[in-house]
Formats: sequence, C-alpha cells, structure tokens
Amino acid sequence: MPELPEVETVKNELAPFALGRKFTGVTLLWEGIVKEPSIVEFRSHLVGQKITGLSRHGKYLILTLTGDDLLVIHLKMSGSLLLSRDSKEPPRYTRAVFHLDDGTRIFFRDPRKFGRVWLVKDVTTVTSKLGPEPLESEFTPQVLAQRLKNRKAPVKALLCDQSVIAGIGNMYADEALFAASIHPLRPGGSLIQEEVERLYDAIQQTLRAAISNKGASIVSYYRPGGETGTAHFEFKVAHGRNKNCPNCGRPIQRIPVRNRGTYFCPKCQPAT
Ligand SMILES: [Zn+2]
Repeated sequence: MPELPEVETVKNELAPFALGRKFTGVTLLWEGIVKEPSIVEFRSHLVGQKITGLSRHGKYLILTLTGDDLLVIHLKMSGSLLLSRDSKEPPRYTRAVFHLDDGTRIFFRDPRKFGRVWLVKDVTTVTSKLGPEPLESEFTPQVLAQRLKNRKAPVKALLCDQSVIAGIGNMYADEALFAASIHPLRPGGSLIQEEVERLYDAIQQTLRAAISNKGASIVSYYRPGGETGTAHFEFKVAHGRNKNCPNCGRPIQRIPVRNRGTYFCPKCQPAT
C-alpha cells in the first residue's frame, strides 16, 4: 500500500532522528522480516554502524551505513516505521525494533507481514529491476512514451509495474489516469503523444500533491511520528467505492485490472 509519496514522507520524517545515529541493537520479533543475509549476520553487521544517509528508490527506503553496508527496507502492503523516544512497549504487530545510540527506537510495524529488510553492500542486488524514478529529471514525456510503446498490457497495469516506472502503485495509478482522462484498460501502446504528455503531467502532479500531503492513510500507513497522511482526502477516484465523479457526478466504477481493484469514471475516461 505505501507508494512513492508515503515512502518519501517516511524518509523525510525519519531523517532528522536517524542521521548520524548508531545502531546499538536490533530486536527481531518475527525473523521472517529479514530477507538477506542470515539473521546472525544481519544482527552482527548492523550493530555498531552509523547511519550516514537516507534515500529512496521506488518504494524502497535505503539507509546508507558507515561500514559500506546499506539497510534496505520495503514496507510492502501494510508496513510503517514508527519512532519511539520513550520506553513504551512496541505497538501490536511490531516485527522488528531498531535501537539507536540516543535511546530512540524505530518500530517496524507490519500487520500483514509482507514487509522486508535487507543488509547489502550493493543496493542493485535488490533494486536492479526498477524502472526510472518519476520525479527525477531523467524521466520525461519521451521516456514515458518509450516505456509504453508497443505494450499491449493495460496502461493501469504498466503504471503499477515497478520495472516500467518505479514507485507508483494502485492508488496513484488510478488518480493519475483519472487526471489524464485515460481509461485504465487502454493498451499502453495505444496512447497517442498528447495522451502520454497528459499522463506524464498527471503523474507529476499526483505524486507531488501526495508528498506535500504526507502520503495517504487508507489502511495502515502511519508517518514515523504516528500521524496519518492526508493525501487520500484529495483522491478523486482511488478507493472511491460508492462515490461520484467530482467532474461529472456519475458513479465511480470499480473493475479488476490484472487482479487489482481499479477505480475510474467511465464518462471522463472513455474507452476509446
Ligand atoms: Zn466523470
């Protein structure tokens, strides 16, 4: 569920508390959260390392550490990283606790247990399949056109495909397609240049607006301080069950696109 704007928010809001701090311990309440390396190596390599940088690639959060290691975190469906400055018990569904040298703890809370962490030397072993970053300058309408060219898959599915573009998921794909007046089932390769340009602008605006609203808290996304984001209050169609289109007033429809619940307005996003 957390997509680019949510992970960007987590990165920004975690940074002031994490940068320059050293890991003094890690408590794994569910060992399955560690994807790589082994539990023993994960713990022994992490402890003692200082956090020198935080970055994001797609939906991955990346902490650069002093020992040339990178702590890579993916929140997947339901993960949150929560800061704790007191000695309270970790909240329910906490799978890992990272202890920092000033007493701060970071709880990895994840009800559905899809979230994962990696400790690697080379981040591309985890993120090699990711497509371009939509908010970086190298992502242009031409790049988007190239990524969609000749593709028969529905444009909605392509937007959610992390190897096509990094960071967009179900919510922001629906919002961007609505803003661009493009039907989610249109084959990617069928978009004309003007539509690609509209979609490009819609992606930019949708993601930037969501970042300034600190992400969307639909199910279980919380910001590091425990607050919710407010981006979902501005959603036009995403998760718009029983809502009407803000442009034309007709009921928003929900259809499956490659098994993902997809919300759109059949009038404002015509099939042809
Ligand atoms: Zn409409």
